Amino acid sequence: MMAANWKMNLSLGEARELIGAIKQAHIDFGMVDVLIAPPFTTLPLACDLLAGTSVFVAGQNMHWEEQGAFTGEVSPLMLKEIGCSHVILGHSERRTLFFETSELINKKAVSAREAGLVPIICIGETLEERDAEQTFSVVETQLNESLESFRKKENHDQDFILAYEPVWAIGTGKTATPVQAQEVHRYIRDWLSRNFGQDRGDAVRILYGGSVKPDNIAELMAQPDIDGALIGGAGLKSDSFLSIVRYYKQ
Ligand code: PEP
Repeated sequence: MMAANWKMNLSLGEARELIGAIKQAHIDFGMVDVLIAPPFTTLPLACDLLAGTSVFVAGQNMHWEEQGAFTGEVSPLMLKEIGCSHVILGHSERRTLFFETSELINKKAVSAREAGLVPIICIGETLEERDAEQTFSVVETQLNESLESFRKKENHDQDFILAYEPVWAIGTGKTATPVQAQEVHRYIRDWLSRNFGQDRGDAVRILYGGSVKPDNIAELMAQPDIDGALIGGAGLKSDSFLSIVRYYKQ
């Protein structure tokens, strides 16, 4: 899966243009799933323009309640109603700038599934944590807490996607090397197998995010446990996004 997180970018006109280019691109959906996550105000347009196509549309965040007095928030049912299939949860910008905790992400992930949305749950260590050799323990704690309810037997079969995004590689131009990324993806895969069983562990998609570009996507995708990418900056332009989507032709 190649998922573009637009963050707080693109006007409606620019969004229309980019979506138009994606629709005309003759993407081989047998090879790759494609998803875009525009800002809330662009979501209805994106869902309308992409209705009946194979391109998925995701929210970048949501509240965990279905409705109520939560000024400034959007509910899972609202995302579902306009045609979203997925929602990104726990992006590092939400965790750092908006103080979202893994406990909160767990709550949101459960209500996303209740509304029929597939959560894309983001995890990843900071540079300080990597330098202190805490990468694996930080990732493991985030997994334990963000997927707490799904780990319980009654929620075991919930559908979700993980995105490993080392915080030091997001929007910085620094990418984890394929070996660094694979090592953490392998660790996540083993954690999944331990907690959900081998079959499920093998089946859950683990995306890599952090300065993914047309010139590094092929070697990242060559790693056995990297199943796709969550793309920020390079997802805002049709030429870079589409060459990432077509990585297998490189
Ligand atoms: C992201 O925002 O999830 C991201 C990975 O951004 P960038 O590709 O710009 O590093």
